[in-house]
Amino acid sequence: MAKKLKKSATNAKNTGKNVSAKNNRQTRKQTEDDKNKHKSAIIKDHNLKFKNKSTKNKLTKTVKQIHKNGEKRAFINILNSDTVNVVNVKNKDKGKISRQVQNKKNQQINDKKLIQQKQNKKNKISDQSKNKLNNDKELAKKAKSKSTGLETKQKQKLNEKTKKLSKVLKKQIRQKESKFSTVPKKKNNDSQVIINRNLDIKHLEKLLANKQKEQKMKEINMKPQSLRQRMMTKLKASRFRYLNETLYNNESSESKKYFKSDPDAFKAYHEGYKQQVDQWPVNPLDIVIASIKKMPKEYIVADFGCGEARLATVVPHKVHSFDFVSLNENVTACDVAHTNLLASSVNVVVFCLSLMGTNLKDYIVEANRVLKKGGILKIAEVESRFEQVKDFIEAINSYGFKIIWKDLSHNLFYFLDFEKEKDIRGRRNNLPPITLKPCLYKKR
Ligand code: SAH
Repeated sequence: MAKKLKKSATNAKNTGKNVSAKNNRQTRKQTEDDKNKHKSAIIKDHNLKFKNKSTKNKLTKTVKQIHKNGEKRAFINILNSDTVNVVNVKNKDKGKISRQVQNKKNQQINDKKLIQQKQNKKNKISDQSKNKLNNDKELAKKAKSKSTGLETKQKQKLNEKTKKLSKVLKKQIRQKESKFSTVPKKKNNDSQVIINRNLDIKHLEKLLANKQKEQKMKEINMKPQSLRQRMMTKLKASRFRYLNETLYNNESSESKKYFKSDPDAFKAYHEGYKQQVDQWPVNPLDIVIASIKKMPKEYIVADFGCGEARLATVVPHKVHSFDFVSLNENVTACDVAHTNLLASSVNVVVFCLSLMGTNLKDYIVEANRVLKKGGILKIAEVESRFEQVKDFIEAINSYGFKIIWKDLSHNLFYFLDFEKEKDIRGRRNNLPPITLKPCLYKKR
């Protein structure tokens, strides 16, 4: 390659010589200078400078020819009108490679820059969106904290209100309870029973409101009492307590005799009883009524110790109502230990606060007799009458029943439902006694 280049360069040199010779106007020194210039340029394989355009063209032609012949040993670049860049093939390749590498590097740098720019843009956008998101979050957080703050405040207020109300109600219930029974309350140890003593605040609230309303109405209607009237009120209360005690402490046959001889006494008893019911937060008969209303309409009900027989008037069922004395046409006067009902003739027997008398065994035996198999015995009683509710349930079970439902959640009353499993007729002597404490009312 060097030879060829030398040749071409010599050609160029000769051409240059010929030109200067042809022109013959230039000095010798100038010709020498040109010679040296071309020579050094060729040797150094750098830019060649030509004195005029035609010299340059000739050289270019020559180099191109070399290139065309496939020798590919030289590479020429025309830089401007009088300068040509002749590159040695090796250098050319090197140049190419280095250029390629450089280009690649540049490309990479450019790419990197582009990527960086894109990344920056992205980051900027994501930063912006992040900021926005953060702002939104912050705002949402603020809003939330504001609202939860409000909510908690409201909740706190509500809780405080409920607590206050439940306190007042509990106090009232306790007061009523203490009035209601002289017998100290015993805790129920029945582990099988799930006791839910949570007060139904809403329900109690309603009841309290009603009672307060009633009380106000009574106060409005009440005229100042004379001494005679006040004495009469006290006497009535004492009479009620006495009759109540009589009912609890005697056999039902004795009570029946007593009320038969003095029907007014029975009326007096029921007046006092109604006043007592007014003092309770809930009338257990209402709970019994609600449960019977849910039963099939074709069920026949027997209300044992019905009082005024309200149950018969409010349920759609056929109801046989029994009490010692008939206060209205719905009531059949009799001792519930011996009714005129046919054996296995009713679906439901109700004892709502009417398990009075010292012969409760006779009451339950009669219930077993009149009930159909699978019939229901419903008992509602004052809680303080039970020594151990578990023992009471066991005793009733031995009378041919099995407990199917119980609600011990009410503060004053227990509600127990039994199902008749079998007839006990003929086996009554082997049955255990059924005992409940008398429910005695305090002197007011
Ligand atoms: N169950 C009614 C009345 C409850 S007062 C109500 O919840 O409103 C209790 C009633 O049971 C009294 O009227 C009393 O006379 C009656 N009673 C108690 N033992 C009785 C018996 N052996 N025979 C008939 N009635 C009886």
